[in-house]
Amino acid sequence: MATELPHKQAVIIGVGWAGGIIAAELAKQGFEVLGLERGEERTVDDFTMPKDELKYALDYDLMQDLSKETITMRNDEDMRALPMRQLGSFLLGSGLGGAGVHWNGVCPRFFPYDLEIRSQTIERYGEDKIPEDITLQDWGMTYEELEPYYDMFEKTLGVSGEDNEMTPPRSDDYPTPPMLETRAMKLFKATTDEMGYHPYIQPSANLSEQYTNPDGQTIEQCKYCAFCERFGCDYQAKADPLITVIPTAKETGNFEIHTHANVRSISQDGDIADGVYFIDETTKQEYFQPADIVILTAYVMNNVRLLLQSEIGEPYDSETQDGVIGKHYCYQIGAGATGMFENEKFNLYAGAGALGMRIEDYNADNFDHSDQDFLHGGVLTLGQSGNRPIATNPVPPDTKSWGSDFKQASIHYFPRTLSIGTQGASLPHRYNYLDLDPTYTDQYGDPLLRMTYNFTDQDRKLAEHQAERAAEIMENMGADIVTPNNDTEGDYDIVPYQSTHNTGGVIMGEDPETSAVNNYLQMWDCENMFVVGASAFPHNSGNNPTPTVGALAYRAAEGIEEYLNNGGGQLVSSKNSTQKA
Ligand SMILES: Cc1cc2nc3c(=O)[nH]c(=O)nc-3n(C[C@H](O)[C@H](O)[C@H](O)COP(=O)(O)OP(=O)(O)OC[C@H]3O[C@@H](n4cnc5c(N)ncnc54)[C@H](O)[C@@H]3O)c2cc1C
Ligand code: SF4
Repeated sequence: MATELPHKQAVIIGVGWAGGIIAAELAKQGFEVLGLERGEERTVDDFTMPKDELKYALDYDLMQDLSKETITMRNDEDMRALPMRQLGSFLLGSGLGGAGVHWNGVCPRFFPYDLEIRSQTIERYGEDKIPEDITLQDWGMTYEELEPYYDMFEKTLGVSGEDNEMTPPRSDDYPTPPMLETRAMKLFKATTDEMGYHPYIQPSANLSEQYTNPDGQTIEQCKYCAFCERFGCDYQAKADPLITVIPTAKETGNFEIHTHANVRSISQDGDIADGVYFIDETTKQEYFQPADIVILTAYVMNNVRLLLQSEIGEPYDSETQDGVIGKHYCYQIGAGATGMFENEKFNLYAGAGALGMRIEDYNADNFDHSDQDFLHGGVLTLGQSGNRPIATNPVPPDTKSWGSDFKQASIHYFPRTLSIGTQGASLPHRYNYLDLDPTYTDQYGDPLLRMTYNFTDQDRKLAEHQAERAAEIMENMGADIVTPNNDTEGDYDIVPYQSTHNTGGVIMGEDPETSAVNNYLQMWDCENMFVVGASAFPHNSGNNPTPTVGALAYRAAEGIEEYLNNGGGQLVSSKNSTQKA
């Protein structure tokens, strides 16, 4: 029997970037907010000194414990989905600050084309250009409408960067100057510049200099320590929720956090959510938390799962293509090229999670697709996040993978190997979706989320194109051995790491028939629920997603404030209008 707790104005499920931003914005406006986070309490003191690659990078210390809860995966509907027993393809966050604590911090925006992808594709190339079963949708708002919220997110983090003619228009400069250029980055820059491309230093939440944000939180200058991706930053130089939005929310006195609070379901009274049920993981006691408004910020997987489990919104059906919860699950397409230099050495031990040089010439609709057999594109990056000693063993393709030949080659090529990678856009496909698994359950007997996903022809053609471009650049950089790579050659495999850029499942749009939330991320079917995160993306772009998650969280916070001040109501009238109702 659940114990009922005192009523709150707003309850937030999951406290990462999305939950933290909304907590800060609501608490600053004087609303009483409770954050329920299933993982542990964390502070930056937890990360002082231990640069332990085994613990953090290979044993995934900061991430979700799959023995308690995981997902199942199958490539198509004829297969039986099996549980993901080990983290691999993507690394789910858990604990205060979520994946924002152990992210790299690469901070690009999506393109105007992304938000109006269907309309702009039809306008430029005609409807026939969209392949069958690629169910492209516009986002229900334009880039111009989203731009001020990108600006807020970047100013909260202090993003370091430089403008570039191939990137989306900005209303203001980056808050801090770009990161330093390493020798490898300079070589990529000179080469791509000569090839007629437009290289620039990628925007970074590892900061180039000390910065105090508009909320008064200070982020320090990055030390290029290289233990960044998969690690927390003890120097407080990587903008994360623990040193920005969470303290901002707490300092108001209006934000309370309950960690180890695992939410199992959202309760509804008619069409209104009236609270959430959660289990305190330390006592196993179940509680009911009543609230005026419920904000779901539990990342893509649990945003979808909790809605399906709570029977809120209509589940997607791939046969009829009716229903919206679970549809448009998208990912990102990995491809690139490795280059080995016999006569050049680079200091690749140094680095930072978001350090790198990139080009956007083959991203979005920045290039003509008339003669291409795919849509969209992806960024091409030479990153220098720092080579970790256990995980990095580059050897030429024909080398044995064990013994003294392997060891000698690996030592020789460690400082002589560079990589260029793409993050290719992932477009929605009718048969790529999320639903509840009919067989497998979590520690409490609740059904696991099931992923049905495979690469599409569009993905494979895009990946092939990007691998070819990356190999050309590498050749021009003077590498002696160039090896293109392409993750999409076989079926999607959930075992090797690819990217924690999962998107979709609770998508935004202007029509309740085809989207789950409006452009404030307010549910069409349950007006006092806001579902925030990359789950709202109708497709995934060819760039890192978190600035768009952050921008949408600022937008949602504004909508929630208005909803609470107005005493309810839909904030947007449905279909063909982005005007407030
Ligand atoms: C290694 C790594 C590197 C990355 N690098 C980049 C990068 O360079 N650039 C970029 O743009 N993105 C990057 N990302 C992605 C980025 O981290 C995410 O986009 C971002 O953190 C998502 O924020 P979120 O708040 O939506 O979700 P999360 O950070 O996942 O937060 C969700 C929170 O909800 C909690 N939760 C889930 N279910 C429940 C429940 N039932 N009850 C209570 N709480 C629950 C979780 O414990 C978690 O703390 C990276 C991710 C990883 C893993
Ligand atoms: S590389 Fe910079 S931001 Fe990353 S952990 Fe080290 S000091 Fe922090």
